[in-house]
Amino acid sequence: MQSSIRRTVGMLALLTLSSAGTQSPAVPDTIEGHLAAGKSAAGGRDNTPDFYGLVTALCVAPQRGAPPLDAPAPREDPDRKATYMQPKKAFDDLYWMGTESVSAWLLTSSDGYILYDTANVYDAEDLLIGGMQKLGLDPAKVKYVIVSHGHRGESGGAYLFQSRYGAHIVTGDWDLIEGSLHGYPTGKPKRDIVATDGMTITLGNRTVTLYATPGHTPGTISGIFQVHDRGKPLTAVYSGGTEFNFPNDVAHFDQYLASERRLAALASAAGATVIINNQSEFNGAADKLRMLADRRPGERHPLDVGARAVARYFKIEDECAQAQRLKIMAEPARGG
Ligand SMILES: [Zn+2]
Repeated sequence: MQSSIRRTVGMLALLTLSSAGTQSPAVPDTIEGHLAAGKSAAGGRDNTPDFYGLVTALCVAPQRGAPPLDAPAPREDPDRKATYMQPKKAFDDLYWMGTESVSAWLLTSSDGYILYDTANVYDAEDLLIGGMQKLGLDPAKVKYVIVSHGHRGESGGAYLFQSRYGAHIVTGDWDLIEGSLHGYPTGKPKRDIVATDGMTITLGNRTVTLYATPGHTPGTISGIFQVHDRGKPLTAVYSGGTEFNFPNDVAHFDQYLASERRLAALASAAGATVIINNQSEFNGAADKLRMLADRRPGERHPLDVGARAVARYFKIEDECAQAQRLKIMAEPARGG
């Protein structure tokens, strides 16, 4: 198999944290001001808010606090199969498998596949391996599995691909995975490739560049890569972690904000017009892929939302994180 991993440094330092490309009229530096700015960034084409789920999760009812390492083992939902959606070919070389909430993506290359996130432990077999088989793809061709962060919805199927197919697991959250007491009831993935900032994963004719975006978890990684829409290359940014289910103090919000601003700048510099992630309610992946079936000739791909929409996505995260940070500062017992 033709593949390589490369670590790069240098050019990242040139990108400043403040050049997020989402500058707009001054937002009042208040909780209400940031929430309003975050909510108004949800607007999309034809008055259809394209990131409404992200606004709901971050601005309306944000999660608070990190799951403890001794959190109970995930339970197998007896009705889990009812949540599985039809797997979809999203682009020429990118496939989606998921539910209304969870997304996993498969990037195909001339020399095998890169799987990006792995669903929950009890869903991985049917949703991912079954999904690939439905799509006519051979799961044994998965050479790399990128786990954007070590929560259960992203890392649950990593052990399956490592143990059954010998796929390399790439993540920045090995400490989180290894520290989990009950999170991997069918087996814990063994430490493999440690993702680092600027690392590239190349397989055949496809390369994913990874960026450390700590905040959602300590080792959250995001990625930028090309996909092809009827032969036309498009740049996609994969946002690795989204919600505020981390220790809710100012320092953690500062880290989250710095990471998301930097990723927004990197996405802008790369010309990204596609924003994807691991939870389809945030970018509307499931709905947009359903719309793909009705796409008229000459119409833009539903997931090709454009650079300004990608910037709006990051602006929602930014504004609503700022609001939550100010709320914490206003609570003396939790502040700092
Ligand atoms: Zn998570």
